[in-house]
Parts: sequence; structure tokens; C-alpha cells
Amino acid sequence: MRPEILNPLFRPVTSLAGVGPKIGEAMGRLLVGGDAPEPPRVADLLLHIPVGLIDRRNQPGIALSPEGAIVTLEVRIDRHMPAPRGNKRVPYRVMAHDDTGEIALVFFRAEQNFLERTMPVGETRFVSGKVEWFNGRPQMVHPDHIVDREAFEQLPMVEPVYPMTAGLARKTLGRAMRGALDSLPDLPEWQDPTLMSRERWTGFKPTLETVHAPATPAELAPEGPAISRLAYDEFLANQLALMLTRANLRRATGRARIGDGRMRRAIIAALPFTLTGSQQAAIADIERDLASDERMLRLLQGDVGSGKTMVGLMAAATVIEAGSQAVLMAPTELLARQHAKTLQPLADAAGIRMAILTGREKGRERVDILAGLDDGSIDLVVGTHAVFQAGVEFRDLALAIVDEQHRFGVHQRLALSAKGAATDILVMTATPIPRTLVLTAFGDMDVSKLPDKPAGRQPIETRTVPLERLDQVVERIRAAIAEGAKAYWVCPLVEESEEVDAAAAEDRFVDLQRALGPVVGLVHGRMKAAEKDEAMQRFQRGETRILVATTVIEVGVDVPDATIMVIEHAERFGLAQLHQLRGRVGRGSKASTCLLLYKGPLGEVAHDRLAIMRDTEDGFRIAEEDLRLRGEGELLGTRQSGAPGFKIARFEHHAHLLEIARDDARLIVEKDPALNSPRGKALQLLLYLFGRDEAIKLLRAG
Ligand code: ADP
Ligand code: MG
Repeated sequence: MRPEILNPLFRPVTSLAGVGPKIGEAMGRLLVGGDAPEPPRVADLLLHIPVGLIDRRNQPGIALSPEGAIVTLEVRIDRHMPAPRGNKRVPYRVMAHDDTGEIALVFFRAEQNFLERTMPVGETRFVSGKVEWFNGRPQMVHPDHIVDREAFEQLPMVEPVYPMTAGLARKTLGRAMRGALDSLPDLPEWQDPTLMSRERWTGFKPTLETVHAPATPAELAPEGPAISRLAYDEFLANQLALMLTRANLRRATGRARIGDGRMRRAIIAALPFTLTGSQQAAIADIERDLASDERMLRLLQGDVGSGKTMVGLMAAATVIEAGSQAVLMAPTELLARQHAKTLQPLADAAGIRMAILTGREKGRERVDILAGLDDGSIDLVVGTHAVFQAGVEFRDLALAIVDEQHRFGVHQRLALSAKGAATDILVMTATPIPRTLVLTAFGDMDVSKLPDKPAGRQPIETRTVPLERLDQVVERIRAAIAEGAKAYWVCPLVEESEEVDAAAAEDRFVDLQRALGPVVGLVHGRMKAAEKDEAMQRFQRGETRILVATTVIEVGVDVPDATIMVIEHAERFGLAQLHQLRGRVGRGSKASTCLLLYKGPLGEVAHDRLAIMRDTEDGFRIAEEDLRLRGEGELLGTRQSGAPGFKIARFEHHAHLLEIARDDARLIVEKDPALNSPRGKALQLLLYLFGRDEAIKLLRAG
């Protein structure tokens, strides 16, 4: 039950004066995104923070207006220059001047009548907007305001500028915002008073009042107290939710799994290699967690090819020795099958009864597997999300291993733990996750790292090659496969559409087959699972020697004797993705090559990315560079989504606050795990306001 004091903030925005269904819809697009089924809440509106402000006192004159500055100009209208008929790309211009110089007011897709009415030649107008200098001449594209003196005198001298969307006028938004502020009650303070005075923060309500009615641009500075406080609120809500989830998971356990080591010994004996030092250390970390009666929540971070699967198997063997069950969950069916295939011989050697469960196991087979999980005759199940589904019951699930899926959210975590009364969780990820992301996506998870790669690995030689030299690349590959090599050929990501990507891959497949014969195989996301398997297996067995693929092979695919990776249109891939793809080679003892085919001319960022790929194989360095090139916000963004996004906090400005929030949240949960103290109760409000009410439900349930 949400505290009553929040009710006014949880009404739909359409409850505000002047906000009808149409405007509510536009606000939904702006605040929630997409086709939200319901209008957003008043709280969402209040957390919509201005990006800048119009300071009408800032009237430098045309010639002295700095590039990019938002200014107000008092100008006289000189002439209208409509766009030539039929040419939509040339804008409509209105020339105007003041004592210092001349400026062009620029309008795209303009309506001439309207412009002539608002800016009659010879009249004085106050225009405000951003000045841009173009070939030494100032212009203002779509001024924010064009008013006469009388109207100007009515305007506030300082007005915030919000990110906008079509169908929502600035005035309407401003008015709704004032209504929202009026309905904002005084809330008890949830922040620590010492921190508040140190950071010069004001309370939540005064802070929002400042932010939505700033007097100076400084009040909206990201590092300033107002925005910082809200960023901190957001971080604290995130950290607190994670810590509460974690505390709850911990509490729900109470079983130690130790095992006698016989299966682990059998696995090690069956391995054709010895475990690396860091694999052994990670296994020891996990065994310690499993042996304790606290619930494990551990992240295993290891670069591509560092041998995480083996660590996972050893963890599974530990609980199976102790008479319990384990699941290994992969993000795709392809990966699940591959895991099953590599693990089967080891499981056999150790006497582990293993099964695979994906969407594809149907009918009798599925029924048998489900029965086996339920009665405990299956020890280890390897699968996809299918293992979460209703109807899958375990006799005693002790360990869930989640592979290659660092966006594994709180939701899934809860669903998983619902399957086992005291399930320990191990998340394995290849993508080196920057610390800020680990913190915001996992909270204070324990982390084991696999810094060293298995011995005998050879560096991968990476080269960039312009696409014009495709023919030479094909010849090179022809020579290499004649000597027994295997190659991946990854096709460009054309759009966010498997269909289009698949078509590109099919075309390349046909070309390469024409050039090189039947040794070319194809795998892409549009193929049926069975066809994908078949293609993978033929490549594994060496019946095909070149595998044309889309990014379905991005994660996890393991064919150790593949030594060539060609990535077509490498400039279209992100760094993390290139790194993942490249990690498909260099897994055996033979030297490998990665050819990044690019189409010039390269933009600066694309150029830098390819240069970094050429420079280093170090996944952590690549992740850092990626962050630098893209900004952390985008890493949290939708493409790799699932992670909690932040509306106000910006890592580039507020990363230090995240650390404080982490410590703060930890102390809060230690001292007051049920959030019952006065501060705890106030913090519940914070969790509601920032949409972290899951955590509160968990509290109530626990
Ligand atoms: P990732 O960490 O990318 O998931 P995998 O677990 O797929 O890596 O391991 C990559 C390859 O390295 C596999 O072929 C695996 O059998 C092999 N491997 C794992 N551990 C070792 C080791 N200690 N020595 C040699 N090869 C190893
Ligand atoms: Mg793996």
C-alpha cells in the first residue's frame, strides 16, 4: 500500500488543469516513451528536468551573441525570403537587424501567412532562441519566442527549457508543471542531514521548485546542489532497491552445500588442460559462498575466452555432490546447445545427470525432462529462459548460473529464486562491465574475476582493411582454408531487424559460395533452431570452413580451431560488440587474425573505435574506451537494455555520488532492514517516487 501522502503525485497528469487526454498522451511519449497505455503520473512530470533556461535578461545584441548561446534579441524585421516553390529543403528566411548587425531567422516547412502575420516588415520583435554562426553570419533556427513589446513585457524574464515532443506546447508544459508543483506536498526528508548540509542541498520540494523555476543558469548546472540532489535521490533509490533485494535473498536462505569433491575431481581428471590460477581462485570463492549458509549472489567477470564455463560447471558439481540441483541458463538457444555439448562428456565422466531444456523440447521429451527435474533424477539442466517458465519445478534447486547476461534484472532474479527456496546465484559475464554499471545493475554483488587467459593462447592480429579490397580478403581466406583454417565472416548490422540482417548475410553467403565452393556455411537469427544447430555443427566438425553469420555468434560460441574472423562493415559495430565478436577466435593454440573491413570515409568515432581494436585485446581497456566514446548513458540505454536507466543522474557528472549512495544504502539496510525507522519510512517514499516499489513489495513479502 502506497503511503497516502503520495496520492497527489500518483494521479495521472490529466488530473492537472489544462491537461486533456491529447496532451496527456503527448506527455506520455515524452516522459515514459513509446505507446504508454496510461497517461504518466504527476511525479513523472515533476522529474522531467529542464535542460536549460531562457534568460530574457541575456540580450547581448546580434553581433555579440556567442555561438550556441540562448539569447533574446530586440530586432527590426527587414524582409521575408520565402523558400522557392516546391523546394522543401531550402528554408524560409526572415532577415532582421539591430544596432549591432543583421541576423537570419530560419524556418523549415514554414507557413508563409503565419510568418508574415507574426513578423510584419518594419516592426520591432523580441525573438529568443539559440544563435548559430554559419559562415560568419548569425542565424536563429525556429526561435522559441517571437513576440512584440507588449507581449514580451508579460513574459517571465527567466524560463526553463524542457526536452519537448510534438503536440506539446512549451506554454502548456510550463502550466502543467506549475500545477504539479502546487500539488507537491511537503514530504519528510529522507536524506541524511549531514550529507545535505555538506552538499548544500535543500529538501525535495524546494529543490524541485528551484529546478522548475530557476533564477539563473547556475541553478540548473549538473554539478550544482539542485540537480545533484535529485541525481543522488535517483541513485539512492536504485542502490537501496538493490540492497533490499539482496538482503531479502540472503535472508531467504540458510543452507550450506559442501559436497565431497568426487565429481569435481572426476571433471578435472577428464579435462585436457589444467585450470588457470584465476579459474581456481574463482572456484574457491564460489565454494566458500556455497558452503556458507548465506545466499550467494556472485558475478563472475572474465573476458571472452577466459574459461568461465568451466568455473560454472565446477560450481554446479559442488551442489550436485551435496545432493541438490543446478541450472545453467544461456541467453540464446544456440548457446544453450553449445554449452550442453561441451559439458556432456564432462558430466558423463563425473556421473552428473544432465538435460537440456529450451523452447524446442516439446511433447514427450519435455514431459520427461520436467518429471526428471521434479523428482531429482536430473542433476543439471542447461537451457534458456524456458527454465523459468511456469510448470518447471525442481526437487531441490540450489544453484542458478546465468551465462553471458549481465542485463539480468531484478525481475528475473526474483523469478529464479522463486524456483528454489534457497537458490544461490552466479552470473557469468564476458563483457567487462565498468564499475558504475556493476553498481547500478547489481548493487553490491560479490565479484570474482578471471584476469588471466588459459596458457598457450596466442595474441590475435587485428587489421583494418577498406571494403574495396574485399577481393583480396577472399583470396587470402581461400589460401588459409586450403591450409586447414576455419573462418567466421560476420555480416553488417544493417538495422535493428534480424530480417534485414539475415538478407545481407544470405547475399554474402551466396557470393562466397560462388567464389569458394561448398565449404561456406550460413547461420543467422531467422533460421530455425535446428538449422542453426546443424550449421554450427557442420562448422565445428569442419565440413564447412567458413561460417557466414550475423551477430548471433556474438556471444559465447566456441569453436577453438577457428582462427580467422572477418567483420564486414566493422564501422557499424560498437566497440563492445567488436570485442565480443573478435573473442570468437584466438581460443586455441594457433595464431589468429581478425580483419575489420570498413567502408570509408570513417567518422571520428568510428575511426577511433577501429584504432582501439587494432591497439588492444584488453577487454577492460576496451570497455573504458567504449565508455569514453559513447558516454555511459548510452551503455545503459535501450539497445542493451534491461538495466535500470536514469533520468536525472549523469555518470559523467555524478559518478562520485553513486559511491556515496552505495555506502549510504548499505548502512540503511544494515540498521533498518524493514525501513521502519522515521528515515526508513521517508525512504519508502523515495522508492515509490522513483519507481522502485518492487523493493518495498519484497520487504512486505519477506
Ligand atoms: P568464456 O569465458 O568466453 O565463456 P569458455 O568457457 O567458452 O570461455 O572457454 C573458452 C575455451 O577455453 C573453451 O574451448 C574451453 O574449453 C577452453 N578452456 C577453458 N579453461 C581452460 C584452461 N584452463 N586451459 C585451456 N583451455 C581452457
Ligand atoms: Mg562463455
